[in-house]
Amino acid sequence: MGREGRQLRRQSSQQADANEMIVTGSVWDYVETNDYLAVTCTCGAGPSASLWSDVTIDKIHEGDGERAGRRLTSKWCAIHGAEYCAAVLAGDKVRPEARELVESVKKAQRADNLRAVQLKRREQRRNQRYGLSRLGR
Ligand SMILES: [Zn+2]
Repeated sequence: MGREGRQLRRQSSQQADANEMIVTGSVWDYVETNDYLAVTCTCGAGPSASLWSDVTIDKIHEGDGERAGRRLTSKWCAIHGAEYCAAVLAGDKVRPEARELVESVKKAQRADNLRAVQLKRREQRRNQRYGLSRLGR
C-alpha cells in the first residue's frame, strides 16, 4: 500500500466506530471479487449480505471514486473466520453457497446511480494507470 493508500485508510478509519471498519471504493472492488470476504458465513441464517453496508466517506472529495465506501457491520463466527481467512490467503475466492448472493450484492452496487458513477471513476483511473504503464515500456 503506497502513500495514497495509507492516506485513504486513515481518512476512512476516522469515520468508523472502534469496532467497525470502513473501506474505500477500491478496497471494496477487491472485497466483492471474493465470496469469503463479501458476505457472512453460513451460520444462523447465513450467508447474508448484511456483513457490509454502504457508507459515504465524508473526508474524501466528491470527485474521487473512493468516496463510495463500505462499512463492515458484522463479522464471521470464530470458526468460519479462521477458515475463510486461510482460504483467502490460499487464493481461494469461490464459495458455491454464496455465489448467487455475492452477485446480487454486486448488482445492487451498480444499480445505485451515485455508486455506479464512483465505480466508473475508479475504473477509468485504473485504466489510465494501466495505459501509462504500458506506454512506459
Ligand atoms: Zn460461521
